[in-house]
Amino acid sequence: MCPICSSAGPFPQRLSAEGFRLFECAGCGVGFLFPQPSESKLASYYDETYYGEERKKFLSPIEAGISALSKRKWNKLQPLLGQGDRFLDIGCGRGTLVQLARASGIEAYGIERSSPVGHTVPGIIYKDLPDCHFPDNHFQVVVLWHVLEHLRNPAETLQEIHRILKPGAWLSVAVPNYGGSQASASGPHWFHLDLPRHLWHFRLSSLQALLASNGFRLARQTTFSLEYDWYGTLQSWMNRALHDDNYLYALLKGAETPSGVKQISRISAAALMGLPALGSALWDAANGQGGTLTVTAQKVASEKPVR
Ligand SMILES: [Zn+2]
Repeated sequence: MCPICSSAGPFPQRLSAEGFRLFECAGCGVGFLFPQPSESKLASYYDETYYGEERKKFLSPIEAGISALSKRKWNKLQPLLGQGDRFLDIGCGRGTLVQLARASGIEAYGIERSSPVGHTVPGIIYKDLPDCHFPDNHFQVVVLWHVLEHLRNPAETLQEIHRILKPGAWLSVAVPNYGGSQASASGPHWFHLDLPRHLWHFRLSSLQALLASNGFRLARQTTFSLEYDWYGTLQSWMNRALHDDNYLYALLKGAETPSGVKQISRISAAALMGLPALGSALWDAANGQGGTLTVTAQKVASEKPVR
């Protein structure tokens, strides 16, 4: 049975990579890994290279760009919050949004997976959501960006978010768009396929079904994120053309030691493909087929999630 829409199947296998098998529900269109990898297997895919030193993932100029984009995102969220409201960023990474919210006088918190090297940033709690024991009806805005696809049980997390949000309050969710052009054109080379870290792949129909069955009403959606889509398109093209396995990405994170010829060839390829990739990402987004699905959903004003 489909865990999202309860369809009885069948579930055709879409593709596999490194021995992980991705199936797709014909009912709601969700893609899911089955079986899910074991805890120890998954843990080996979340080392410090994934998070980056001091929670910075990339080299400095790229970090500066990401920081400017975070400011734009915060400017969009801010109107949803009033005086005395609380804000929570689940999977907050380096905590940029939490810091921006606090600078605006909002009581803001972030949650992140426990860090192997023990970083401490104000307002950030290194626990899983259920272990935070937040009170009922506590937050006005909860952000869940690029998290849902990593969770073993997304519905459980949405139920907990529903509990801690005030009635009529807001949840912002962002996931790689499995229904977008980037995903369908790139197939196994899609940068955001990211198996086995991404256990789930959502498109609008499956995300909407999941939200509705857990007490949320979809208010608005967009399929463009400059931060993710330009690079996602470029890296997917390079993966496909050069059989690269995200080499450029590792280089930008500073995780890969530069090695002469390969480095120069990849940077040249990126320079050549950069603008066409941006054009492609913008074109996809203009057609509602962008690489990142971001939705704003409102908690339905009932005590219990609609089942
Ligand atoms: Zn389904």
